[in-house]
Amino acid sequence: ASLRKEDSSTEGNSFKGHDMLAPFTAGWQSNDLDHLVIEKSEGSYVYDINGKKYLDALAGLWCTSLGGDEPRLVAAATEQLNKLPFYHSFWNRTTKPSLAFCLSETEAPDLAKELLETFTASKMAKAFFTNSGSEANDTQVKLVWYYNNALGRPNKKKFIARAKSYVDWSIDYLFQFSCWEHSQLLIIIFEFRWYHGSTLIAASLSGLPALHQKFDLPAPFVRHTDCPHYWRYHLPGETEEEFSTRLANNLENLILKEGPETIAAFIAEPVMGAGGIQAAVKKYDILFIADEVIRAFGRLGTMYGSDKFNIKPDLVSVAKALSSGYLPIGAVMVSPEVSDVIDSQSSKLGSFSHGFTYSGHPVACAVAIETLKIYKERNILDQVNRIAPNFKMVLPDTSPCNILSLQIRGTGLILGTEFVDNNSPNDPFPPEWGVGAYFGAQCEKEGMLVRVAGDNIMMCPPFIMSPEEVGELISKHGKALGATE
Ligand code: PLP
Repeated sequence: ASLRKEDSSTEGNSFKGHDMLAPFTAGWQSNDLDHLVIEKSEGSYVYDINGKKYLDALAGLWCTSLGGDEPRLVAAATEQLNKLPFYHSFWNRTTKPSLAFCLSETEAPDLAKELLETFTASKMAKAFFTNSGSEANDTQVKLVWYYNNALGRPNKKKFIARAKSYVDWSIDYLFQFSCWEHSQLLIIIFEFRWYHGSTLIAASLSGLPALHQKFDLPAPFVRHTDCPHYWRYHLPGETEEEFSTRLANNLENLILKEGPETIAAFIAEPVMGAGGIQAAVKKYDILFIADEVIRAFGRLGTMYGSDKFNIKPDLVSVAKALSSGYLPIGAVMVSPEVSDVIDSQSSKLGSFSHGFTYSGHPVACAVAIETLKIYKERNILDQVNRIAPNFKMVLPDTSPCNILSLQIRGTGLILGTEFVDNNSPNDPFPPEWGVGAYFGAQCEKEGMLVRVAGDNIMMCPPFIMSPEEVGELISKHGKALGATE
């Protein structure tokens, strides 16, 4: 295959010249950067300023679970805006949709109660609201530190998270294309990630070198353990179960090396084989934090990833689909054990001095309440489980780009495709080849938006997609792959 620079262009849909420092975008110093400007959404589709229609295979940014035009969410926001657009939740003040207790049987329940009821993998007692997943994970660190200070364990402060162990080039090279001439292509399909957010602490917890390099991160209290990527890191002849056991043993060795009395918590997105990890951390009185920011509310066909993989976390982070992405909101859920310690010790330690002006923002909470109500009324898990079996890769019948083999690892409505040089499977493609970016651009030409990260393409569509739309997604992805012919 020979791909030329012009194959990667965006067909004049883009917009040049801007005053915005765009997040996670290469070359933001330059005024010349192309931007795709999205103007309108409708169900599973979005439209750019030239009227071109795209299937939104990433649900915005893993969040618009109910699609782009749910009138009930607009109505919930409008009603709340008309009644009380803002009041805060500091110092025992709060608003009806967020933290207020129900004052009578007939009153609409508050979001904290509704949210806690959705989590059944283990018992959760309290919810703390944030504006994002990153803030939720930052809040987790402060909660855990406060908890250990309350217990008189000032040295138990380190966090263990997962690493992605080779360099992720995506940040610098996302939009740079050049000639790619290669035929030895292996495609791996996967469903796990290493990202916990981009604030200082959340970026430190994330296992992506691109988030650390040039920012003097990770913070010194963070340690990273193995990446649970079976295909890439299993030993010759090792089964997936043996691989998981080895990772759990490695984690235990790391805990012992650091000293269990110094390790406060382990944070991860729930994945298969995390049971062994859970046992290892429990043994050393280390808290398990489930980052459910992407998986919560049905993406895997279960309400949470913890349900699917039988994880019983002590703390949980959510965001994104909590409001179907319509307004910024995230939350931390806290087990009764952690919450009791914090409650009982606060007279000694003082208040939990942490929070954001917009924690429990009434309009975001009103939208989130309505979102959870819709999930229940429309049996969202049934809907996801109905379409998920069709959400499978996605290769052209013939193998125009000499795809040599394929690993399937997608779960529910999450699917990542990793392109690997089969001659050198342990190294990413040279970044200047722009392999993932090329496929991303082909998808865009086909009228579909996906996430590109280095050699990876990720898809995470709205829960409400019809079987026909899933078929369209599969067909567009296949055509984009075929475009290398
Ligand atoms: N945790 C996970 C698993 C995520 O995927 C993300 C964002 O994609 C975050 C945390 C950070 O969330 P936010 O971008 O809302 O800060």
